[in-house]
Amino acid sequence: MAQSWDHPAPEAGPRVRPNAAGLGRGELGTLLGALGEPAWRGKQLFSGLLRQRWTRWEQFTTLAKALRTRLEGEVDLAWPGIVHSETSSDGSTKHVFELLDGRQVEGVFMPYEDRVTLCLSSQVGCAMGCTFCATGQMGILRNLSAAEIVGQVVVMLNHHAHPLDRPVNLVFMGMGEPLHNFDHLMAAFETLTDAEGLAIPPRRITVSTSGLVSGIDRLGTFARRPRLALSLNGTTDEHRSRIMPVNRVWNLEALASALGRFPLQSGERITLEYVLLKGVTDSLEDGRRLAAYARRFPSKVNLIPFNPHEGSGFEAPDEARISALCGLLSKAAVPVSVRRSRGQDVAGACGQLVRSPRQGS
Ligand code: SF4
Repeated sequence: MAQSWDHPAPEAGPRVRPNAAGLGRGELGTLLGALGEPAWRGKQLFSGLLRQRWTRWEQFTTLAKALRTRLEGEVDLAWPGIVHSETSSDGSTKHVFELLDGRQVEGVFMPYEDRVTLCLSSQVGCAMGCTFCATGQMGILRNLSAAEIVGQVVVMLNHHAHPLDRPVNLVFMGMGEPLHNFDHLMAAFETLTDAEGLAIPPRRITVSTSGLVSGIDRLGTFARRPRLALSLNGTTDEHRSRIMPVNRVWNLEALASALGRFPLQSGERITLEYVLLKGVTDSLEDGRRLAAYARRFPSKVNLIPFNPHEGSGFEAPDEARISALCGLLSKAAVPVSVRRSRGQDVAGACGQLVRSPRQGS
């Protein structure tokens, strides 16, 4: 039976005026070339957009005034707009971005002492239909363009006045299955890691997949790529297929083979994310199977106690069970940590990102 993720997700519609916001260095060169300017000016434009994070053409003082005036008249500089923000008691802020077609996606800004981590969306909605995830219940509306993915980063960094020299980590754990929007994801990756722009090191970017084996294999063919995390969440096919429909296409065995052949760099490990749902995925037997699975390839486990949200039908695990599972994995020599989702009180934690008011309009 064909699944919704077998088909490409719809793209954003065409625009009449070009928009420079979020474009890569090469695309900006082409854009300027079309205006009769030398393509190398694309580098100046790129640096102004991503390093200086200028948001109005008049700020581009590195360009001649005549060119600035021309850009003002012929090229948009339109980043996604923040239409709503909520800050959690733990300091993280969930932002709702409105895209140029009125669709909305969410991103989360999580400040730590030594860095900031941004949780990004890759699609409007998601085709994967995981039952514990609010976004999964929306279905897929469309892919984000590479520029829209980059836009979330620039807009959040600007909003929080984040200085250029402080480390930034990016995690694709917001709305969407990033490997279902592969080409735009990798184009955004190139732009975000470009040394002339934000220069975010590839090892600071993590893509979390629900288990799209075709995408994992494809990612493995790239020499420069983000790190890989797998949202595992089940230790038997029966359980996993019940909460993650993708498991009916690529089961645990198929996934383990894909992860086993994924070419890792020295010291690199695949992160296995395991959401603990009380009475569903948190038995000690689950813990033993999880440890055995994790030992089949270089990996580390993130245990994520479930964040209950309205209508999910699942509960958070007991603290005693969390520590027992942690101990069990450590004893089996599997690196393990418990990830307390940030932003829980503003529904910004993983599996809680969903926009309802204007979707589908
Ligand atoms: S958990 Fe991720 S892959 Fe699954 S439905 Fe939610 S957004 Fe999609």
